[in-house]
Amino acid sequence: MAQIINNSAVDPNKILPMSYMWAREHYKNGVANNWVPEEVSMQQDVEQWKSPSVLSETERHLILWNLGFFATAESLTANNIVLAIYQHVTNPECRQYLLRQAYEEAVHTDTFIYCCDSLGLDPDMIYNMYQTVPSIKAKDDFVIQLTTSVFAPGFTTQGLKNIQRFIHDLIGYYVIMEGIFFYAGFAMMLALKRQNKMVGIGEQFEYIMRDESIHLAFGCDLINTIKAENPEIWTPQFQAEIIELVKHAVILEKAYAYDACPQGLLGINADQFSEYVEYIADRRLERIDLPKVYGRKNPFPWMSQSTDLSKEKNFFETRVTEYQTAGSLEW
Ligand code: FE
Ligand code: MN
Repeated sequence: MAQIINNSAVDPNKILPMSYMWAREHYKNGVANNWVPEEVSMQQDVEQWKSPSVLSETERHLILWNLGFFATAESLTANNIVLAIYQHVTNPECRQYLLRQAYEEAVHTDTFIYCCDSLGLDPDMIYNMYQTVPSIKAKDDFVIQLTTSVFAPGFTTQGLKNIQRFIHDLIGYYVIMEGIFFYAGFAMMLALKRQNKMVGIGEQFEYIMRDESIHLAFGCDLINTIKAENPEIWTPQFQAEIIELVKHAVILEKAYAYDACPQGLLGINADQFSEYVEYIADRRLERIDLPKVYGRKNPFPWMSQSTDLSKEKNFFETRVTEYQTAGSLEW
């Protein structure tokens, strides 16, 4: 039987034949979604940013908070993949996917360089926000302290406790960081785009969200495969610990949402961003076979259309003619 971790028989250079076709599928989906930030014009965004009348103070604050969070969060994610996950996941098709994901994180990092450059933002201000803005710092600190086992010198994935630590950290990277902490920001920037404001950045956020939905799907498939191959680790106690982590993450993401957008946006109140975070968290829990906690309805049904690639959008038609797996996207 195949073993995705702790398989001493695996030759990391021998990718064929494959055991985990889902990893291959996610790789292909990532390639089909290929993009770079320079393909999106920032002309209108620059005009709106410089105009004294187009954007309200609330909207400017929201844009800065989201650029500040994502500018460093993308590097943090890239570092976790390359420095922590890659050495323990030796399966070749998973590693092929991890290399693709690492590249996409480089594209996302590049997106925020492009945004800072085109809007003429102060890089010291933006790139220090994860230290200076408490609601952003709290999220990053939470992920960093949550995901330290895999970074510890000499850490191996041998034995029940260590496999649990590894799953715990993977949940920190994928389910919490990419799956929960990115989503209030996605909803805010796409809500702004729907009002025809900062549509260039909004379009870049749509591309990032599509990439992230695949990262999240890969991460959940990896987590679920390790669970299926090592069922003894998925104890009721460990499941309860994971649910508590997710609940704590939701509190931090809701605090971030109120801090980034205290007054809400035209037609959206701040509470709806917070409800959206709870709705998303339930979906993440269910994806790794845990029960829902919040039972919220999706306050933003339009968010699903932003990742549903079967509904082709204007900007997308020029780049991707066919997309294979609209059904497996996470949002
Ligand atoms: Fe990313
Ligand atoms: Mn990612």
